[in-house]
Amino acid sequence: PRPVVAVVGRPNVGKSTLVNRILGRREAVVQDVPGVTRDRVSYDAEWSGRDFVLVDTGGWASDATGMAARIAEQAELAISTADVVLLVVDATVGTTDEDEAVVRVLRRSNKPVVLAANKVDDARGEIEAATMWNLGLGEPFPVSAIHGRGSGDLLDALIAVL
Ligand code: GDP
Ligand code: MG
Repeated sequence: PRPVVAVVGRPNVGKSTLVNRILGRREAVVQDVPGVTRDRVSYDAEWSGRDFVLVDTGGWASDATGMAARIAEQAELAISTADVVLLVVDATVGTTDEDEAVVRVLRRSNKPVVLAANKVDDARGEIEAATMWNLGLGEPFPVSAIHGRGSGDLLDALIAVL
């Protein structure tokens, strides 16, 4: 069976954009307004001859209170069914309470994690991406899901842990 990679993170960090980048086509639904991605959509993906299943997550409402808790709950579900987790954070925003909530779930899961610091559209963003070391999940890979910058290095790291 193909290994399952769950793409998790709080709304609007660019999970679906990154999924599309990895797929090389636009299948995952990207929205400027967070919270509209359908729940847990799976796609067949491939990099460097390795096949895997990519699971995009989202679908929670973004307005109500208890947001961090609900994000963590959704992440927990996705993580439990995954072999490897691709955690996406927004390097232009930095670490938020919602990111931390997902990280706590990840720690408990003991699943391998690859950390993508997204929205690093140019070299200047690499400084912000490096601050993501503070999540304690190892090396943050700076990427621009929109432009493709850094995605090759991220995918190399991902298949190394599959
Ligand atoms: P999701 O909620 O985590 O799935 O995030 P989406 O993929 O729907 O993206 C949310 C917003 O961030 C959209 O407006 C995207 O165009 C934007 N976005 C995603 N990736 C990047 C990136 O690498 N750079 C920039 N500047 N914006 C991005
Ligand atoms: Mg999405």
